[in-house]
Amino acid sequence: MTRPSVAIASLGGTISMTAASAGAGVTPTLDAAQLAAVVPGLTQVAEISAESLLQLPSASLSFDHLLECLRWAEAKVDAGAVGVVLTQGTDTLEETAFFLDLYWDRPQPLILTGAMRTPAAVSADGPGNLLAAVQTAIAPGSRGRGVLVVMNDTIHAARWVSKADALSLHAFVSPDGGAAGRLVEGRPGYFHGPAKRPVIGRPQVHTVRVAMVEALLSDDGELAELAVQAGYDAVVVAAQGAGHVSFAFAERISRIGNTVPVVIASRTGGGSTAEHTYGFVGAEIDLAARGALLAGWLSPRKARLLLRALLAAGMPRAELGERLKKWGKLPDFIPDAAAGH
Ligand code: GLU
Repeated sequence: MTRPSVAIASLGGTISMTAASAGAGVTPTLDAAQLAAVVPGLTQVAEISAESLLQLPSASLSFDHLLECLRWAEAKVDAGAVGVVLTQGTDTLEETAFFLDLYWDRPQPLILTGAMRTPAAVSADGPGNLLAAVQTAIAPGSRGRGVLVVMNDTIHAARWVSKADALSLHAFVSPDGGAAGRLVEGRPGYFHGPAKRPVIGRPQVHTVRVAMVEALLSDDGELAELAVQAGYDAVVVAAQGAGHVSFAFAERISRIGNTVPVVIASRTGGGSTAEHTYGFVGAEIDLAARGALLAGWLSPRKARLLLRALLAAGMPRAELGERLKKWGKLPDFIPDAAAGH
């Protein structure tokens, strides 16, 4: 029987990290072929091609790196791969997944995975995660779902996934609506059909920088204004609760908004910004009246990536609000799970 073909590329991260000597810290060293070689049964599941694109800790991945990965993944599915898998560090996985998802317009699944434990650790999770990622990549039910994160036998949509623990095997969660699916005995299953996903045109301007500043207790928002003075093109405020800042921060948002777009997202780690509940100075109604845009269900990190992608695609400021609304709301699911694009 012909096996489906899956392309794997490695970018670095803990899944690939070894120590040069006892007691030295681990760094990325293993390439994609070495990662694939230690996964029992992998080549029975699919015909694997393995390439190393980068060997980096994920904190040092850049937008340009990810655009390269995107081109690589597109070339692989165009050449017949039923799905592609990227292995990388988990530290920025929720951001890289969302970034790639903004642009991925193919029905084939683009899967990201990694490891919380190094290859030398007792019960290293990398091989199991890679196998699960490939099993997810070949499943017909994974089509049309955009970019997926597979960790710990759980499948998350890039739109909702978050790293919520520094070292636990159960670090990845989708705090708002839960995981998209799970793997049982090597078979992925989904809790609901794929969601409709708008995608964005490729960046025209590569120099766009969007700052993200957290609103804190007894905080007048000066850092947000300094970011604008330093040349940032937009600011996302990780605001308190449902989208709230102090009186002084609110004044600052009015001033900043005269120069660049300001987006208000909730720093809580779950839930949406409110629209018309709170009437105090610095609350969502006041901030919207000052010209700030509300991120809805987008986390501050994801709002930053979306805003950056929209500005980099040349979107005029007047249209940002509409686009944010589209991305910041709960998804419309496509009823037939077999639906592709
Ligand atoms: N915890 C990270 C990982 O799982 C460390 C390094 C990185 O993100 O590259 O890979």
